[in-house]
Amino acid sequence: MKLRVLGCYGGNIPGHGMTAFLMNDRLAMDAGWVSGALSLKEQVKVKDILISHSHLDHTCTLPFLIDNNFSAPGFSLRIYAIPEVIASMKNHLFNNHTWPDFTCLPNNITPVLKLIEIVPETPFTINGLTFRAIPVSHIVPTAGFTVEDKKVAIAFSSDTGPTHRFWEVVNGLKKLKAVITETSFPNELQDLAHVSGHLTPATLDKELRKLKKDVPVYLYGGKPKYLKAIRKQVGALKRKNLHLLVQGKTYKF
Ligand SMILES: [Zn+2]
Repeated sequence: MKLRVLGCYGGNIPGHGMTAFLMNDRLAMDAGWVSGALSLKEQVKVKDILISHSHLDHTCTLPFLIDNNFSAPGFSLRIYAIPEVIASMKNHLFNNHTWPDFTCLPNNITPVLKLIEIVPETPFTINGLTFRAIPVSHIVPTAGFTVEDKKVAIAFSSDTGPTHRFWEVVNGLKKLKAVITETSFPNELQDLAHVSGHLTPATLDKELRKLKKDVPVYLYGGKPKYLKAIRKQVGALKRKNLHLLVQGKTYKF
């Protein structure tokens, strides 16, 4: 299983894209930085995107990905998300105000965009990868994802504060090779992390006590302004196998 980090930050400054991971070159989890990181040639190969929640730092390149490739021969995109997230994208993103409703363009019969609802905890398979959406604890309805192929499994929590079910499911994955979770704010902004449904290094440390498997944990979501502090505080946890994701790097599991 191949995971290329297109973006892994909770905000956007030069050189720092927002959350998006390309799986096996053809499928993305979240779309905070798909069109920002991929060439047109690479973009057109992306046919399926899983979206964890409606926040812009996870969705904002979807409009440009579709617009860039609208007239490319054979281009179409399927977006998968839990029903609340699909509803939000219909109402607030592809609503003919913020951006065209590509679910009926160029026509209703062969639209370039399909929005597909997924049922939490029910496995579904795309291109040989089996996913499960697991609800987590953010300020809008949000699902993390487990991803499995025949040999390995990984889990991506998406944006979350302290949560429970995600870790329960993760601990049940026999082939688990890695977990990706977030750390958005430094410890001194714990109040802000609490009200916005995010983790700090301190709450991350408590979350990781729920993980019963000895696998590497990779962090994303740091707000660019606080990356230095987050890095220092994560280092001070002195946990083996805890890393910050590196933008542009391809991880093989
Ligand atoms: Zn969010």
